[in-house]
Amino acid sequence: MFHTARIKLTFWYVLIIMIISALFSVGVYRGLTYELKRSLKTQSFRYIPAPGTAGISIPISVLPEEVEQQIFNEVRHRIVFQLGLLNLGIMCLSAIAAYFLAGKTLKPIETMLDDQKRFVADASHELRTPLTSMKTEIEVALRGKTLPLKNAKELLQSNLEEVDKMQTLSNYLLALSKYEDDRASLPFEMLELSQIIEKAVSNVVIVAKDKEIEIKTELAPIRIEANKVSLVELFTILLDNALKYSHNKGQVVIRTKKSGKHVQIEIEDFGIGIKAGDIPYIFNRFYRADTSRSKKTIDGYGLGLSIAKSIVDMHRGKISVESIPNKGSVFAIILPQ
Ligand code: ADP
Repeated sequence: MFHTARIKLTFWYVLIIMIISALFSVGVYRGLTYELKRSLKTQSFRYIPAPGTAGISIPISVLPEEVEQQIFNEVRHRIVFQLGLLNLGIMCLSAIAAYFLAGKTLKPIETMLDDQKRFVADASHELRTPLTSMKTEIEVALRGKTLPLKNAKELLQSNLEEVDKMQTLSNYLLALSKYEDDRASLPFEMLELSQIIEKAVSNVVIVAKDKEIEIKTELAPIRIEANKVSLVELFTILLDNALKYSHNKGQVVIRTKKSGKHVQIEIEDFGIGIKAGDIPYIFNRFYRADTSRSKKTIDGYGLGLSIAKSIVDMHRGKISVESIPNKGSVFAIILPQ
C-alpha cells in the first residue's frame, strides 16, 4: 500500500516540476527565437553610403531570404533539442529526488499506522483474555444439571474480577486517547503543586496501607500552570507503580523542587527496580518489563507509563527514570512553570 502511495506521490511531484519546467522552457524558447530573428535581421543588412548623399548610409540586404530562413530553422532546432535534453535531465533528477522525498513524507504516516495496528492488536489481545476466561467459566457452570448457590456466587465473583480488569483496561485506553488527541482542548490553570500531589497520594493510600508502605512527601511551595485532572492522574500512576513494585513495609518518597524556570518532581521507591535493558521500552504501550518476574505476580497492562508520558508531553515536560535492580527506582519529571 505504501509503495503504491509512494509511486503516486512521486508521479505528482514530477508532474508539477515538469509543468513548471515546460512553461519555463516555452518562455525561453520564445525569447531565444525572437532574439535570433532580430539578430539575423540585423546581420543580413549592411549599411552602405547612399549615392549622392554626403555621409548618409542606407541598409541593403546581403543575405538571401532562404539562407536566412535556413539558419533560423537550424538554430531553432538546436534550441529545441537542447531544451528537450534539459527537460529530460530535469525529469530524471526530479524523479529520483521526488521518490526519495515521497518516502520521507510517508515514513511518519507509515510508522503511525504500524503503531496503531500494533496497539489495536495488543488491546484486543488484552480484552480477549478476560472474556475467554469468563466464557469458559460460564460454559462449565451451565454444563451441570444444577448450579448450587455457593458455586453460582463463586462464578459471579470470578466474573466480576474479570469485568473489573476490563474496566481498568478500557479506562486506560480512554485516558490514552484523551491525552494524545485532545491536548489542545484541556483547560490549563495555575495550581498549587503540593495540593495535586496530596490528591494523588490520597488515591493510593489504600494500596499503601495494604502493603504497609510509608509514603513520605517533601514538597516545596510551587505554583504551576497545568491541567489539574491529568496531573493528578500522572502522579497517581507513578505512585501506584512505586507501591506496586515495592516490597511490603517499604517506603516511597515524593519530592518537589524548583530549578530555574522549571519544576522537578521525583518519585522514589526501594522496590524491585528495572533492568537497564528494559528502561528504553517501559514508556511504550503494553510493554511490561521482565514478564517472568513481574507479569505473573503483579497485575497490570503496561499502559500506565505510556499515559504518564503522554501527560508529561502535553505539559511540554520530560520524564526519565533511573533504576537499580533490587534497589529501587527514581522517576523524575521536569515541567515548565
Ligand atoms: P504496568 O505497571 O501496568 O505493567 P506501566 O506502563 O505502568 O505498566 O509500567 C511498565 C513496566 O515498567 C512495568 O511492567 C514494570 O516492569 C516497570 N515499572 C514501572 N514502574 C516501576 C517501578 N516503580 N519499579 C519497578 N518497575 C517499574
